[in-house]
Amino acid sequence: MSQEHKGFVPLLLSEFNTLTSLFSKLLFTQYPPVIIPGEAILGIEAMAAGISAPGRTILNIVTGPYGSLFGKWLERGGATVVEVKVPFDEVVTVEEVAAAIERYKPCALSFVQAEVVTGGSNPAKEILNIAHDFNLITVMDSVSAVGGEALLVDEWGVDFVAVGAQKALAGPNGVSAVSISPRGWEFLESNENAPRNSILSLLDMKPSQNGSASVRVPANIPTLEARALISALTRIEEEGLAQVIKRHELSASSAIAGIKALGVEPWQKDSKYYSTLTTTVRISQEQNLRIDQPIGIVAPGDGELFGNLLRINHFGANACRQSVEEAITALAQLLNQDPDHAIKAIRLIWGNEHDQ
Ligand SMILES: *Cc1c(COP(=O)(O)O)cnc(C)c1O
Repeated sequence: MSQEHKGFVPLLLSEFNTLTSLFSKLLFTQYPPVIIPGEAILGIEAMAAGISAPGRTILNIVTGPYGSLFGKWLERGGATVVEVKVPFDEVVTVEEVAAAIERYKPCALSFVQAEVVTGGSNPAKEILNIAHDFNLITVMDSVSAVGGEALLVDEWGVDFVAVGAQKALAGPNGVSAVSISPRGWEFLESNENAPRNSILSLLDMKPSQNGSASVRVPANIPTLEARALISALTRIEEEGLAQVIKRHELSASSAIAGIKALGVEPWQKDSKYYSTLTTTVRISQEQNLRIDQPIGIVAPGDGELFGNLLRINHFGANACRQSVEEAITALAQLLNQDPDHAIKAIRLIWGNEHDQ
């Protein structure tokens, strides 16, 4: 190596602390979240491994494939897993959750806040309110909600929240975060089965709780991903979280207006619970909509949803008028229709914000 070549600069403590505080602000929490050295799915698996134990009954709500996976991880940890599962063109209702809590008497409840795969968004705040009435530990997968809808971690009193930047936040997927309340830490610490000396161990990664900054950078954080994440979260701060959410809301409502103008229906049944990150289109009789390959941000359904729906992925950098117009134009082509009236419907929604 030549003298002039400076080589690779490992993640600085100041960068690590910046990343932690950007996440705290984003999540409206006073507690430093755990920075997860991998994709959000690692943080989600770590939450399941950390809370599960024989003798604990956990209510897992399944409104899409990530919820099913979480239930399997809970079972692996030995907990008694009870489930509320709804058809994937609906979200869960607070009444269903309340009935299951009364029936099974769980100590914790887990659910996915918003689903990109089904295009539905659960009534998170109401679910958390019910959980609090029964003094349950609450666990939320908010990977596809953060940046697309409200997520007020401390105000809502949610104990575990997993987030990643690869969806609405237009960031990298290689580093993510899990926010944990003091009560959540107690729940982990009181679990003899919670992993230690493991990449799944949240306890191994516990940040200092007294508000003081970390004294060292965890060795396992991927440096380049962490730097890219700092840039992404800084861009979100600069744009303003409220504006980022607004962009996703406009994308969703304009995508809905566009598909309705083309005479096709949303996959999700209740318009009150549409995800702001994806719009899902019901295929039913429209055989032309059965695509095998994505066309831009229009993608076929995942897994069991293949052939039943199409997904318009209007999130992150694609939460903008132009991407929605391109997606609706692609759908119009599949349907052998002129897209003009659908484009007009989209522009009406964006109004004079059309330069976004
Ligand atoms: C995208 C997503 C994840 C994370 O999955 P990755 O494989 O890390 O991208 C987790 N949960 C939900 C609900 C998601 O939409």
